[in-house]
Amino acid sequence: MLHIKCPYCGTRSQNEFAYGGDATIKRPELNKEVSDKEWDTFVYFRKSPRGKHLEFWHHISGCRQWFKVQRDTTTHEIFKTLKPNEDI
Ligand SMILES: [Zn+2]
Repeated sequence: MLHIKCPYCGTRSQNEFAYGGDATIKRPELNKEVSDKEWDTFVYFRKSPRGKHLEFWHHISGCRQWFKVQRDTTTHEIFKTLKPNEDI
């Protein structure tokens, strides 16, 4: 079982968290013309990277805050956790 360090309340068991998806995806700019294909790609298409990756996680059974986790998808080693507005 993983132990994840929530940046708001500290290290907790994995079963308190929910995976929230790829944290590297950028939403298209507001009020900018976006093609159907660009929107479709943003909403539906995700890569399945192998190795170090930045993800969103939700502390659903704790403080209910969203945050970022830099994790290796093959070993599950967690390198760093960040608040959503922080960059690596
Ligand atoms: Zn928390």
